[in-house]
Amino acid sequence: MYEELQKTLEELHARYLGLTEGKVASYIPELSKADPNWFGIVVVTTDGQVYGVGDRNKYFTIQSISKPFVYGLALEDHGREFVSSKVGVEPSGEAFNAITLDERSKRPHNPMINAGAIALTSIIKGEEASERLNRVLDMFSRYVGTEVYVNMPVFLSERATGHRNRAIAYLMRNFNMIGPDIEATLDLYFQQCAIMMNCTQMAIMAATLANAGVNPLTGVRAIERTYVRDVLSVMYTCGLYDFAGEWACNVGLPAKSGVGGGILAVVPRRMGIGVFSPPLDEHGHSVRGIKVCEELSRRFRLHIFDLLMDA
Ligand code: GLU
Repeated sequence: MYEELQKTLEELHARYLGLTEGKVASYIPELSKADPNWFGIVVVTTDGQVYGVGDRNKYFTIQSISKPFVYGLALEDHGREFVSSKVGVEPSGEAFNAITLDERSKRPHNPMINAGAIALTSIIKGEEASERLNRVLDMFSRYVGTEVYVNMPVFLSERATGHRNRAIAYLMRNFNMIGPDIEATLDLYFQQCAIMMNCTQMAIMAATLANAGVNPLTGVRAIERTYVRDVLSVMYTCGLYDFAGEWACNVGLPAKSGVGGGILAVVPRRMGIGVFSPPLDEHGHSVRGIKVCEELSRRFRLHIFDLLMDA
């Protein structure tokens, strides 16, 4: 299968390079500098093999791909009960940046939309801002196996223009769902979004989740085993926002996308998939990324319910 996998990646890359639909994100001004032709695909298996094609080593900011991982850290910091008192696990069917909270509980609907992610960022443990940022960076380093850094211009660009996220944070503050230091919380949220990774590192993170939380290349545990299931569940039901249902039917894998053009998908016990291509569809997902994941899932029968087909 592995030889076939490499050949398929090359074929899909060649085929979808010509796909010119979608637009590079520009609402964060720095992101508009991305070249729409950048395109990389990497698969990392849980037994540590790496396959890839195209712009594998080009760095980009992970944006919302940070959210499931920070959710995992919040669970480790506080446990399920406390975390679920802050953020629900219901798909909202709304866009990533919707200014909305659950009507009764006033909680954000789930950790994958901006509101939920900001609420979780606000509870990451640490005495001061630098300690909280370092804990987030250390967590990502465990997933990736090397140090990770924040792209300062992208962080500053989002901080200067992210008023919609500021509105979401103030709405949550109004209902006492987050603490008073809103700018510090938003700084950490913008910083986690501006962490740089390449496509290979993104696939390693996905493979780490596929491997029950242990990085298959370094053997280092990145997240307590008990919380991997929680992270994958919200990725499956909410990771693609208002496209999550269609994704669940067509691809059938826990996944997360970011407006930097990255998308990662997890095939439990088998592999992590990372695709990077900046042009986005109307939901904010990489157009080529969606196509590649759909094709890979179909050809290799990766949909989590495909196993019923073998019976
Ligand atoms: N930093 C971006 C925002 O908060 C992330 C959005 C995304 O990647 O979906 O708007």
